[in-house]
Amino acid sequence: MAVNTTTLIQRAREALLKAYAPYSKHPVGAALVADDGSLYAGCNIENAAYPLGHCAEATAIGSMVLAGNRHITHIVIVGPGEHACTPCGGCRQKIREFSGPEGVAITICNNDGDVLLETTIAELLPHAFGPDNVQETNR
Ligand SMILES: [Zn+2]
Repeated sequence: MAVNTTTLIQRAREALLKAYAPYSKHPVGAALVADDGSLYAGCNIENAAYPLGHCAEATAIGSMVLAGNRHITHIVIVGPGEHACTPCGGCRQKIREFSGPEGVAITICNNDGDVLLETTIAELLPHAFGPDNVQETNR
């Protein structure tokens, strides 16, 4: 069952409404589809000890892994304002970790669901360090 972009945007917008962002006031929602067609959503979860906060992408990836999936095919991220809420450096690495052989499509939207940017993990994290790099040293 294919999950279309409109559905992912809607789920990411719903996730944003559940964000716990009392410090930054920057709620973010994410929704991803795994290679078996399953959909997982996440929101950012901040903490009074700031570095302990989780990004929306990381929350969605955690749900995917918990359910037994390993490959993201498409992730939508929704953030406030008109400045595209692209994944932070750490989340780019996390998305790369669970990239399938076809890569990962990334769509960034504003609160209204308007698409601000369509890109890929290969564009956001070129020459990435990934699982293949580690496996080469373990042979
Ligand atoms: Zn992040």
